[in-house]
Amino acid sequence: MTVTKSRPKTAAKTAKPPAKGVRAAGKPAKVGAASKKAKASQSKASKAKAAGASQPKSAAKSKAAAKSDAKSGAKSGAKSGAKSGPAAPEPRAASKSQAPKEVLDFGGFPAGHVTRHEVTLCLSCIFSLFTKQLGLAPRTAYAEIRRYEPTVAELTAREPARPFFPAAGERNPRCPYCDAAKRWHAPLRVYRVEGGRATDAARRTLVRKLPTKDGRFQVHEEKHTSRQVFFEWLERLGQELDFETDAAWMPAAAREYLRRREPKTDWAEVFEGARQVRRSQRLEEGWERDGARLFLAPALYNDVLLVQYLVSRSHRHGGRTFEGRLTLRELARRMRHGGHLEAHGIESRDEFEILEQLVEHLTGGDAPARLHFIVDRRDLLDTAKEVYDRHAGD
Ligand SMILES: [Zn+2]
Repeated sequence: MTVTKSRPKTAAKTAKPPAKGVRAAGKPAKVGAASKKAKASQSKASKAKAAGASQPKSAAKSKAAAKSDAKSGAKSGAKSGAKSGPAAPEPRAASKSQAPKEVLDFGGFPAGHVTRHEVTLCLSCIFSLFTKQLGLAPRTAYAEIRRYEPTVAELTAREPARPFFPAAGERNPRCPYCDAAKRWHAPLRVYRVEGGRATDAARRTLVRKLPTKDGRFQVHEEKHTSRQVFFEWLERLGQELDFETDAAWMPAAAREYLRRREPKTDWAEVFEGARQVRRSQRLEEGWERDGARLFLAPALYNDVLLVQYLVSRSHRHGGRTFEGRLTLRELARRMRHGGHLEAHGIESRDEFEILEQLVEHLTGGDAPARLHFIVDRRDLLDTAKEVYDRHAGD
């Protein structure tokens, strides 16, 4: 979703007044200008990358995205931006020739390791919270809004609570709590980067370059286990997939998992035009294409089946895979016949234990994993300044 900066000046009269004397509070003039500069667009190259790394909803869409990559990153970026989920940053405002490079560029990060989440903060709600409920003077409330650092949990909640509401794709969305118009809405974006060898260096470099003034970016770290991180990823994937169409979600799930597992391969290209995905009888590792058929080495294929099983089991007609709908017993039997259990040293005959051990191998189990969050507060600062400017003269 591209951020639109069109907030009509004439709106001032009808909007709610944060009252007089607020102007002295924030010294915001420079901030806004600088921040707008910083916001100007990414280069075309990074746009194209961003679109490529974004998570299409289905195989069909992914094809389209891959094709349009080169010419219109913006378009597919906009599509993926409407939803949260595995994605690269959306392209920002249209590029102007001298515009500096967008600082939040995840184009060089391995696919599947960065997800983006967007939520909208209603400034009208939070302003009345600060003034009416907490009894702050308007100018203090304004300063507090600029300092406000919401938690990652608040920002990424599946059902955001007031003053947050889900980022809507509508043209003229209204705050669901107070009905405030779009000019009161500040989008907040959270980028979640999985720590590890694949991302650490790139993340450190990126964070080092972020401007620190006014807390435009909040950086936060959480410790988890590999299993937790994997299931969080899987849950997001599940939210993105449309389980009605097997021909769409199954290859998409396979591709996203493989992206995550082997980020150096261009899996979008590997899957391009593939009508069938099968277990290879001759490969020991990797993949090969034979016309419209994509063959995966058994170890990859079996893990893909497991991912499909896990991601679909909580949905209607769950437990579906390239091998059809599987009960846990059937899954375990297939894994045994495919040599997958032996390969992982799993000897148990109990299907629940087998699943548990398969999941340990698939996810990395209790191995420590770090999650890094970068919160983009630039729109919060800008919107707060605009609201303030509009009402300072009232
Ligand atoms: Zn509101």
